[in-house]
Amino acid sequence: MRQSELFTKTIKEAPKDEKSINAQLLFRAGFVHKEMAGVYTFLPLGNRVLKNIENIIREEMNKIGGQEILMPVLQPKYLWEKTDRWSKGVGKVMYKTKDDSGKEFGLGPTHEEILTNIASKYIKSYSDLPAYIYQIQTKFRKEPRARSGLLRGREFGMKDLYSFHSSEEDFKNYYEIVKKAYFKIFKRCELSVIITEASGAGFTKEYTHEFQVLAKDGEDSIIYCPRFHFAQNKEIAKFKNDSLCPACKKTIQEGRSIEVGNIFPLGTKYSKDLNAYFIDKDGKRKLIIMGCYGIGSSRIMGAIVEVHHDDKGIIWPEEIAPFKVHLIPVEDNQKVIKTTENLYQDLQKQKIEVLYDDRKKRGAGEKFVESDLIGIPFRLVISQKTLSQKKIEVKKRKEKKIELLRVSSLYKFLKS
Ligand code: ATP
Ligand code: MG
Repeated sequence: MRQSELFTKTIKEAPKDEKSINAQLLFRAGFVHKEMAGVYTFLPLGNRVLKNIENIIREEMNKIGGQEILMPVLQPKYLWEKTDRWSKGVGKVMYKTKDDSGKEFGLGPTHEEILTNIASKYIKSYSDLPAYIYQIQTKFRKEPRARSGLLRGREFGMKDLYSFHSSEEDFKNYYEIVKKAYFKIFKRCELSVIITEASGAGFTKEYTHEFQVLAKDGEDSIIYCPRFHFAQNKEIAKFKNDSLCPACKKTIQEGRSIEVGNIFPLGTKYSKDLNAYFIDKDGKRKLIIMGCYGIGSSRIMGAIVEVHHDDKGIIWPEEIAPFKVHLIPVEDNQKVIKTTENLYQDLQKQKIEVLYDDRKKRGAGEKFVESDLIGIPFRLVISQKTLSQKKIEVKKRKEKKIELLRVSSLYKFLKS
């Protein structure tokens, strides 16, 4: 894409009403626009990032047998009454609305009701199980404190996977499979996560698991062993910080963190309320056993910015970045422009996503400041000086080092 045609421009001043780093940087670099507390527009750059995150999640969900669907945001009240959640639990944070006839609806804060009802129509026998169904959808919640940019939206993106099983054992197996898939997803997002025990919120006597990223402005607190023998959400922690890990005797730590995902046994709570039974091998009618698994796709975007930035701007991981290469000619003379134009065409032919700063009459310094703010992983700088040596300048956003490469070795470098 040519930067002269990009819909957004970078903004120098930090927004007055945003305290969090992610909101400040994402706004200044032109990734998001704030509409009100906890509600953002994803602009072209931001939308590219969000789609990249979603696609990583989608790939890893498909690899573990997930089938993608899309459920409605608008949900009927009667289903929520069946689970007794219309005014309790998560129902308390549900936005509710009426149509002209007085019929009531909720804007989905989560989708157990809708999906379990659907499952009850299709799953009839043990041979229909297991089933793994997910979606990537906008969720709505009346969050009282939406002050952390994308970390806490009132409208936000979530991947929610639900699994259906004929036995507890089968559920437990799949739970471990999802755990592994989650680690892969967060690794590809360059987020180091700590798997943390958390409360079952009345659904299960066992712990549930959260995936937490240490970050100084995170809203959660976790207690963890520095060698990760265990970690618990502070809400349920049995250990105190400064005590010793029973496994390795290292001092237990406390840290602020961001919950980017969680996995949760649901047992038969929803299948019971919504009549989701199957006929088992032994001919008996039994309740379907369920699990649910969430990942905050827009929260991940905020979390990445919280942990991958410096005083100049964002430092996007390669798989997440809106473009892989920022191509910047620093002079307007013919030779430089012609070389850059050719390189731009060539990079596209090689299927390398590139933002080309083709804007005229701008100093190198100004272009670099904006480039650092946007945070594209590779910067290619074209100048008269290096062209005379038949070379171009390459700099990684996360490193200080500048390399001079021949165009012929450039692709190898970018692809390795
Ligand atoms: P939190 O404790 O942060 O409110 P939660 O326990 O309510 O999260 P879930 O209902 O399990 O979260 O949602 C699954 C995932 O969706 C979370 O792990 C998180 O990544 C994301 N998420 C939850 N609430 C929000 C929100 N308000 N804004 C952005 N992402 C969210
Ligand atoms: Mg919540």
